[in-house]
Amino acid sequence: MRFPFALISSSVSFGLNSSSRLTSRHLYPLSSKSQRSTLTTFFNWQPPMATAEESLRRALADKQSAVEAQGNAVRALKAAKASKPEIDAAIEALNGLKLEKSSIEKQLQAAVSGNDGDAALSREAFRQAAVNTLERRLFYIPSFKIYRGVAGLYDYGPPGCAVKSNVLAFWRQHFVLEENMLEVDCPCVTPEVVLRASGHVDKFTDLMVKDEKTGTCYRADHLLKDFCNEKLQKDLSVSAEKAAELKHVLATLDDLSAEELGAKIKEYGITAPDTKNPLSDPYPFNLMFQTSIGPSGLSPGYMRPETAQGIFVNFKDLYYYNGNKLPFAAAQIGQAFRNEISPRQGLLRVREFTLAEIEHFVDPEDKSHPKYSEVVNLEFLMFPREEQMSGQSAKRTRLGDAVSKGTVNNETLGYFIGRVYLFLTCLGIDKDRLRFRQHLANEMAHYAADCWDAEIECSYGWIECVGIADRSAYDLRAHTEKSGVPLVAAEKFLEPREVEKLAIAPVKKELGLAFKGNQKKVVEALEAMSEKEALEMKAALESKGEVEFYVCTLGKNVPIKKNMVSISKEIKKEHQRVFTPSVIEPSFGIGRIIYCLFEHSFYTRPSKAGDEQLNVFRFPPLVAPIKCTVFPLVQNQQYEHVAKVISKSLTAAGISHKIDITGTSIGKRYARTDELGVPFAITVDSTKDVTIRERDSKLQVRVDVEEAASVVKSVTDGHRTWEDVWANYPHHTSGSADD
Ligand code: AMP
Repeated sequence: MRFPFALISSSVSFGLNSSSRLTSRHLYPLSSKSQRSTLTTFFNWQPPMATAEESLRRALADKQSAVEAQGNAVRALKAAKASKPEIDAAIEALNGLKLEKSSIEKQLQAAVSGNDGDAALSREAFRQAAVNTLERRLFYIPSFKIYRGVAGLYDYGPPGCAVKSNVLAFWRQHFVLEENMLEVDCPCVTPEVVLRASGHVDKFTDLMVKDEKTGTCYRADHLLKDFCNEKLQKDLSVSAEKAAELKHVLATLDDLSAEELGAKIKEYGITAPDTKNPLSDPYPFNLMFQTSIGPSGLSPGYMRPETAQGIFVNFKDLYYYNGNKLPFAAAQIGQAFRNEISPRQGLLRVREFTLAEIEHFVDPEDKSHPKYSEVVNLEFLMFPREEQMSGQSAKRTRLGDAVSKGTVNNETLGYFIGRVYLFLTCLGIDKDRLRFRQHLANEMAHYAADCWDAEIECSYGWIECVGIADRSAYDLRAHTEKSGVPLVAAEKFLEPREVEKLAIAPVKKELGLAFKGNQKKVVEALEAMSEKEALEMKAALESKGEVEFYVCTLGKNVPIKKNMVSISKEIKKEHQRVFTPSVIEPSFGIGRIIYCLFEHSFYTRPSKAGDEQLNVFRFPPLVAPIKCTVFPLVQNQQYEHVAKVISKSLTAAGISHKIDITGTSIGKRYARTDELGVPFAITVDSTKDVTIRERDSKLQVRVDVEEAASVVKSVTDGHRTWEDVWANYPHHTSGSADD
């Protein structure tokens, strides 16, 4: 039995499992699995091995029984008018038992909230402080706010736009430029046929329930998950067996069919959270926004739920553009639309978001990568499937070891995992709160060779921000089949190769006589036989002289005689090998990365007077929305003139900056810009030289006016470090930078 403890504990301790129930990455397997799975598989589970929490639950239940028994004993003694010392002794024993029970309750409370009862509270408080600052300073705001907003839609304000554009610029530099990727930009409106071929029209669904009276919609798995988490965390009277069952439900949530989810919702008596009204049975809701293309309404379309399909349908032209050579990668940045049933968690689950996707096309027989050696020695937290199943936690692992042991399926997948690690950590994601988690078998598409998610820990738990999947040849095959255009690559041989090939030659004259108007369909079906089918037919024809053959386009069996088809093995000379390339796909949720970056960068520190907490974002210069501020220390024409000269030089150097000539105190001006994460401030306090202050250390150096812009440019461009500047320029010592 599979019992992924690690997953369970993360959803219990954080009250959230970040993965979407049915995303495009596991579009096919889940739906086919939910069709396959039965109630029997779900209910035939065994309780897992005892954990500390379970022992505590058992101990608590035992102690509760002991308290009740002792209570009865006291009552019986009183009723029997026993002697006072006898009754007192029994009461003392009862009080002792109650104390022991309360001690177990405390231990259990600590165990269910991750041994860290206050952590959940401080996570909430931290998030509140960060989100308040982000919304107040217009990093992002609920869209259409004056009309009370729409759930799951957000606007980026000026600093948010700047951060997003910096993240995307770095993404282009780190991936598109570095790997010579072919960038494309395809429409968001997509004709139905494309998304039917990809499987989205039929399978891109989440299970939904409705409040039977008000019609309000909820995601069925979210309601069940919230119920289980709440019971586990808040109801200490839940028995060890029941707790194990609830945890099992949490662990298998993604596997439950509509019927199983409905049965659990009924069994647990779950009602609509807002009204407590009864709920409908779960049913699939397609997450795509439907539209029609053109005024006739006859051409159905959808807003794309991912950007990848635009790349797949262009494969033939891109391959030609690349000189008919593999491997190559195409990339696309663009909006994706998913009509999430109940969006929550701010920017983490929204209805329109920016995706940056790479489709790296590679020969399935050679998944090596020329630049693999550049990432092989990177070490970071990896969480392979086996370690999740056996209840271990993510471990620091050398990427090369994970690839050579086969934990990561191939070098190219490993290469991209390494590049994603470098990308995220350069942006400012804390490497200790970043892990690469391998998909469990039940999360992965049947055709996928291997999948890893870059998960970032934030106040909501571990969040999938980048999916890195080896999708084999699935997507190109699906579009080849539907469009009739072969999306294939060819390897030209230096010398022609002799290969044994099966030749199926239908005898059209005989087939025509036998099947008349249906001849063409029978011929096509014979030619489409797999090698195995053809060899079986050959053997049957040789032994029996006639076989029944199913022609799906006719929908029936037809008799095939020996004289109607010749099946033989021939030696042929081949000049090339034609194959469908495999696709390795890193898919980046830009909004999720940015939100996690906001949380990882946010901190507070006391003001100089110690009377308030000031907010700071420690963005690295690479992503900071504004790189530098320029302040005249006091309102004075000469200083203002110097400030304007420096501002001009910064503009010429392409450094985004803000000039503040208001008379506000310098400390307040610093606090305002720290809240925007501006890394450097130039304060003009003389006409010859100025101070440059670094945001986090608050250290200041003195630099000539003429040099100020170039010093700031060199640190923001990453050509030198602040430590280097600090070591090479005179220090400004007149009190604290905030004075
Ligand atoms: P998927 O195609 O479902 O694997 O999603 C690709 C990436 O898009 C994920 O790794 C997430 O970072 C991001 N993502 C998926 N759904 C949402 C959503 N509703 N809101 C924001 N980001 C999302």
